[in-house]
Amino acid sequence: MGATLPVEVLTIGTELLLGFTVDTNAAFLGTTLADAGVAVTRRATVGDEADDIRAAVDAALTRTGLVITTGGLGPTRDDITKHVIADLLAMPLEFDELLWASLVERWARMGRTISESNRSQAMVPRGGVVLPNKWGSASGLWLEGPRGIVILLPGVPFEMRNLIQHEVLPRLAERAGDHVIRSRMLRTSGIAESSLGERVADLSDVIAPLTIAYLPDLTGVDLRLTAWGLPASEADGRLDAAAALLRERVGAWIYADGAMDLAEVLIAECAERGKTLAVAESCTGGLLGARLTAISGASAVFLGSAVTYSDAAKSAMLDVDATLVQRDGAVSPLVAEAMVRGVVARLDASCGVAITGIAGPTGGSEEKPVGTVWFAFSVGGAVDSVKVIFPGTRPEVQARAVQAALLGLLRRIRGAAVPGGTMI
Ligand code: ATP
Repeated sequence: MGATLPVEVLTIGTELLLGFTVDTNAAFLGTTLADAGVAVTRRATVGDEADDIRAAVDAALTRTGLVITTGGLGPTRDDITKHVIADLLAMPLEFDELLWASLVERWARMGRTISESNRSQAMVPRGGVVLPNKWGSASGLWLEGPRGIVILLPGVPFEMRNLIQHEVLPRLAERAGDHVIRSRMLRTSGIAESSLGERVADLSDVIAPLTIAYLPDLTGVDLRLTAWGLPASEADGRLDAAAALLRERVGAWIYADGAMDLAEVLIAECAERGKTLAVAESCTGGLLGARLTAISGASAVFLGSAVTYSDAAKSAMLDVDATLVQRDGAVSPLVAEAMVRGVVARLDASCGVAITGIAGPTGGSEEKPVGTVWFAFSVGGAVDSVKVIFPGTRPEVQARAVQAALLGLLRRIRGAAVPGGTMI
């Protein structure tokens, strides 16, 4: 790791310990601070207990000398965080007339009269800097003493994020110098983590000091490149070069640079090529249509999805020949092809995909085990079908099938070859 400013994060709130509130503040702080060259070296959560807050901040100051806390600043909590930390740093609380006046004015603007109990929010530890909170009532505080710096932020995520961006980062950046921690994400699908690893393992030495992380989930493996503590311009240059190397090796499976969803990539590709999309779904029951309609702008491309679960529905809605279904079974290549032909013809689409499979856990056979899914693709009148057997539970098979349908269609629309060893 290069030169970065270390910081500890302490999130405060009993509801965080109980799990009723998910600690999104800590996750936000990790990514946002890294980008500013401030490395979160440790993070902890404590409940709304004065002794616990005090002990955690005390230890963090001894270790690192720079702590950011979130939560426990509002009047409902009797300002417990502020009291405890002011005492720990020997900075007695004093009433801040200016801050009080701004709170009174804020309430007046909302047509309300501030209550006396809010006076506690205008108490500021002596020598502390108020970080004005235009997004809520509990101000942030920057407390600097001989033992280091404690930055107190409200728990409400929206307020905390704004204070970080507008008040905290500019101050921390001055101390961090020009060094940043910056990441680049390349998203892959259709290739196992182990195969990816084999193809790019030797690049680790080439791209050092950048690191590469494999982040697998149901729908693919994200590759995250990270430059630690480098000057911003060097970090960007090295990330570009490393991303180009990865593309050379595994570009056939990379569908996005950054956070884009595969459905978004497919819709953008169709829009650019003036293509329209229709979908026929059996075992995924509309999940593919849902993935597509989750993307803003889908209406320019996506015409509709026919959810044809029963054999009769396949015939009635997609004109699939009933005798074909009886002969081959609903999970078969010719039925998948008939489904895609049917939906493309009915909706007059230029491209389509059909999914028919056995999501399980029941319904499998020796010949067609649970997880067997037939896909049929139709692009510009050319139809082909592919079988994949997916592992996992019912929702996992469904999610994987939807991703495979999107990937297969994207490849065919681009006219890209299916890379060796891959099905779709
Ligand atoms: P308030 O003035 O609103 O009381 P506060 O600083 O006292 O602000 P908390 O009362 O601790 O903040 O939290 C307010 C709300 O913010 C919580 O109900 C919770 O929904 C959310 N919140 C608090 N901490 C976190 C966290 N670490 N991650 C995500 N959400 C959080």
